[in-house]
Amino acid sequence: MIFIERNGGVVLLRNGHQYTKIRTDNKTGAEVWRCVKWRKKCGATVTLKEGCVPSETAHICQPDYTANFIAKTKYECKKKVMTSDLASVPQTYNKFIAEIKETNIDMMHHMPSFRSVKSAMYAIRGKQFGVKKRSKKSSDECSMGETE
Ligand SMILES: [Zn+2]
Repeated sequence: MIFIERNGGVVLLRNGHQYTKIRTDNKTGAEVWRCVKWRKKCGATVTLKEGCVPSETAHICQPDYTANFIAKTKYECKKKVMTSDLASVPQTYNKFIAEIKETNIDMMHHMPSFRSVKSAMYAIRGKQFGVKKRSKKSSDECSMGETE
């Protein structure tokens, strides 16, 4: 059971499935998470309480372990870059990519580009440190969005 952050929300990775939280029961503290494939008619949910899974319902979608591995690795990449020194963002990113290359070459083409990581990180860090964005460097950087 792994939690990652994606697009500003928390995603639960579990057994090849991905879930987002839909509600928390205020009385019991139990959280209900729903399969992200709900738009494709998979209504599976998993209930979490104090780190346990008291109940879950069956999926109609197929588990995708590769997708979960990619999601986890992308998140780890961002987290590493985020916690690195601002000046060393490129080095941190390159080091992470080099590690991926060594251990899992197939992952390479799934990894976010440095440009997309960089712009996302600088945006977050700019907010954290109250750094005001200077002039627009290039239209390219400004249009970079999250590509999932
Ligand atoms: Zn499902």
